[in-house]
Amino acid sequence: MDLARFNRLAQRNRSRLRAFLRKLDDLVPEDFQPLVDATDRQVWQEIDCTTCANCCKKMTPTYTKDDLQRIAQHFRMPVKLFKEKWLKPGDTAGEWVNRDTPCQFLQPDNRCGIYAIRPLDCAEFPHHNKQPFDEWNDTFIGNVDKCPATYELVSRLKAQVEAGWEFPET
Ligand code: SF4
Ligand code: SF4
Repeated sequence: MDLARFNRLAQRNRSRLRAFLRKLDDLVPEDFQPLVDATDRQVWQEIDCTTCANCCKKMTPTYTKDDLQRIAQHFRMPVKLFKEKWLKPGDTAGEWVNRDTPCQFLQPDNRCGIYAIRPLDCAEFPHHNKQPFDEWNDTFIGNVDKCPATYELVSRLKAQVEAGWEFPET
């Protein structure tokens, strides 16, 4: 993955992609979910996360209570110490996020050092299979310039929707 190229492309196109996602708040094309599923499968045939890890380098997961207990137990440390060592409170009360980026568990080969017990947020990222897709627009609006897979998915959906449906171009 050429992240420098991705960053240039994403900066150039993110406003148009975000405008498209915002339109989905009001206007969801007929049979949109099957189109999302098929396009997403296509995207994952072309993207290998181990050549990217941009999410682990630039973003933080939000840790649930279960995540904290499971991961702290893995390191044989109390949750309090785990928080003190690596985390800070998130924007919402009770949420915990990484203090620094890249994530402390990211390995030099772009793999996750705690893959089997990683936070649920990481396991579900980039949330493309959440349904209905348009209810996750705010997430995709935030991630379209950070995750190459989300960028590709939204770009391809935009092109197909604008070509095949009576959908105003952005
Ligand atoms: S989920 Fe997105 S940002 Fe994370 S490694 Fe995969 S393509 Fe890159
Ligand atoms: S816990 Fe693993 S998957 Fe999650 S951000 Fe850190 S390195 Fe990436």
